[in-house]
Amino acid sequence: MFRSIHTRLLAWLVIPLLFMSAAHLISTYINTHKTSERIFDKLLVTLALTISEHALASEGDLLTEDLLELIRVTTNDNLYYKVIGPNGSFVTGYNTIPEPQSGIQELEEHLYFYDAVFLDQKVRVIAVSSLIEGRDLDGWMTTFVAQTINDRNAYIDSILADTIFRVIILVVVASVLLYVGVSFGLQPLKQLQASVQQRHPKDLSPLDQGNLPREITGLVFALNHLLQRLSANTSLTKRFVENAAHQLRTPVAALLPQTDMALRRAESERERVAVGKIKRNAENIARLTHQLLNLTTAEAIALGYQHFKTIDLAEAVKKHTSIFLELYPNADLKLELQPTPMQGDELCINEVIDNLLDNARKYGDSSQAITVRTFQQDTQCILEVSDQGCGVPEACREKVTERFYRLSHDSTGSGLGLAIVKEIVQAHRGQLEIGSGPDGLGTCVRCRFPILSES
Ligand code: ATP
Ligand code: MG
Repeated sequence: MFRSIHTRLLAWLVIPLLFMSAAHLISTYINTHKTSERIFDKLLVTLALTISEHALASEGDLLTEDLLELIRVTTNDNLYYKVIGPNGSFVTGYNTIPEPQSGIQELEEHLYFYDAVFLDQKVRVIAVSSLIEGRDLDGWMTTFVAQTINDRNAYIDSILADTIFRVIILVVVASVLLYVGVSFGLQPLKQLQASVQQRHPKDLSPLDQGNLPREITGLVFALNHLLQRLSANTSLTKRFVENAAHQLRTPVAALLPQTDMALRRAESERERVAVGKIKRNAENIARLTHQLLNLTTAEAIALGYQHFKTIDLAEAVKKHTSIFLELYPNADLKLELQPTPMQGDELCINEVIDNLLDNARKYGDSSQAITVRTFQQDTQCILEVSDQGCGVPEACREKVTERFYRLSHDSTGSGLGLAIVKEIVQAHRGQLEIGSGPDGLGTCVRCRFPILSES
């Protein structure tokens, strides 16, 4: 859970907020308790003094109706009292009201508060002592007044309930604001993630540091540094392959007519077989250098898709199949072409058609037709070449698009054709699918290109 920065930040903000709220509630409870004690004790003093005075004046008689009425109006709590005369003699009231543990001797001329339980109820008791002289009772007289604590508890509960309500509202509102704030604060990270994800795999240009917050510019700087080194490395490798292929092309091209000439001049069968092998190998090298150069071209256009032009797939197939038929007049081609305009690079699309036809010819059944279809499906432009040959086993359909991967070594080839096709299709933001031909026989290679808008 804490692997998300969003959750971490929220946890660091909300958990302390919850602790602070709990501390606030506890301190409010303690303060309210103290305040209620102060207020209600003052009231109890007034009541106790009044009762004590009455008891003194009446020398222990029962309280008058007027005084009882006054007490009822002043408090909702139950009030109990007792008066103890000199030498601890009981004068009037409830004899069982508990007395302080320290005894009543210490209470002279003092107000003394304590908590106790009386008649199974919690009570707050006040003891007031007064000196009586010149009457029947001579000496210290102590009045105990016990009051139930319902009013105090109700006061504390109401303040506490109000505070809890406010704290809950505050925590909820603060949490929502924090969630929104943290999400908003992390937006630049999400934008950076999206911009890296949307990149073409071949795009090694530096990431834009423009509006990024200071905290992530360091990361972007490091990424850009890595991209720069990767880019330098890749272009070095590409240049090496390109140069090697270029250097090879001319001598290999020169080799082919010479092997032809040597084949014609061969005097014995043995010589003809030997030169024939040289010729096949020379053709293989020629094809390999051609494919290597095509591969570097395909990689180069991957980033230049903004400069694509409108081309019609049907027209491109028509043009190309006429060249193909000149080379292989016996080939049986079935064309099902619907106008399929798309945005792309013409040379590269020709290369795709060339490779797919070459494969269909090499690996297809020569007695059966090769079908080429072009059509539009929803927002996609489809080019499809199918044959009725040996087919590509399902498990190898991904593998055959890797560079230099070949299923059979019977025919000439370098294993780069489908890798080039895939590279070009991806450079056009499309997908390459390899499936079975009609009736589950042979191979059907389908290139799906999106109809890119010109930009
Ligand atoms: P290159 O095209 O570079 O001259 P290649 O034809 O061997 O060489 P790819 O076009 O990449 O290379 O094809 C890779 C392998 O996939 C082939 O060697 C072949 O085994 C298999 N393959 C390709 N197309 C077909 C097909 N239409 N039917 C059956 N197998 C195929
Ligand atoms: Mg091929």
